[in-house]
Amino acid sequence: MNLYPDVIGPPGASQRRAIAKAITLLESTRAEHRAQADELLTALLPHTGQSFRLGISGVPGVGKSTFIEVLGLYLIALGHRVAVLTIDPSSTVSGGSILGDKTRMEQLSVHPQAYIRPSPSSGTLGGVAEKTREAMLVCEAAGYDVVIVETVGVGQSETAVAGMTDMFVLMQLPNAGDDLQAIKKGVMELADLVAINKADIDALAAQRAQLQITSAMQLLGLFGPHDDAHWRPQALLLSALGGQGIDGFWAAAQQFQRLQTANGNWQARRQQQSLAWMWERVDAGLKQAFRQHPQVQALLPQLLQDVAAGRIPASTAARNLLSAQYP
Ligand code: GDP
Repeated sequence: MNLYPDVIGPPGASQRRAIAKAITLLESTRAEHRAQADELLTALLPHTGQSFRLGISGVPGVGKSTFIEVLGLYLIALGHRVAVLTIDPSSTVSGGSILGDKTRMEQLSVHPQAYIRPSPSSGTLGGVAEKTREAMLVCEAAGYDVVIVETVGVGQSETAVAGMTDMFVLMQLPNAGDDLQAIKKGVMELADLVAINKADIDALAAQRAQLQITSAMQLLGLFGPHDDAHWRPQALLLSALGGQGIDGFWAAAQQFQRLQTANGNWQARRQQQSLAWMWERVDAGLKQAFRQHPQVQALLPQLLQDVAAGRIPASTAARNLLSAQYP
């Protein structure tokens, strides 16, 4: 079945079906599906790259889905088409999901100009991130010009999302403990913009958080060269529930895009991401092939025991395994 014409075809029910089938195909682990998926992605590639890839992260309950719903509807009203993809590290471990399913974002999920796809619920985080990247390309080829990739602020998924998007936004609650967590985990370094949500609950606390985050970003040296050609990460106040701060957020995102495009960082970041993605997949492929190698499989059980019991140094065991595959 050739999904290509319908994916790049006009918006509507058959395009929607083709996108869903294409993403299911690339999520499949069967070898012949993988070959078909590679062929499809290669055909779609010339139609990709035109979207604004926006990453959004934050702890459960911070208001991500509320925000994405309001932002998505706002962007659609401006004439955009919006796709939302999720990476949920909890679903890769347990099959359960912190981010829940499509019932989040009630209006957006049924809007003809929006496409929402929940996280693949199996595989390693690296595998899920790969599928999400590829799903993003399918959505771009179908003409979605804003692709939002959402994740929760646990595990390594934030690094994965920052590594596949043009702009990475960290959503925070207006309380200082939260900020310290983000700084400790090194997530602040990834953020191009911090959005402090629920500012309506306590305006003063929100402003305090804004000041604290801004000075933390200064202390971390995240501001780079002090001139007008470079983006400075900033902290904005939001009230997603009341729809407040959405236009300011989008204005900042567009300013980011303008600056990054003008100074070459937009393209450079994408190139760097594609190359990093390629090497990451090479590493994963090598590791898998290595573990499946018959010689390695024959040696492994005994070596595992020997290393665990302290009979053989770990480095010697590793050398033995490696020379079994590459004598
Ligand atoms: P997620 O887990 O990050 O996707 O968070 P949700 O979007 O599901 O929001 C969690 C809860 O916070 C919900 O009950 C929302 O109605 C509420 N919420 C979201 N944004 C705001 C806001 O700006 N102000 C207030 N007061 N509540 C909000």
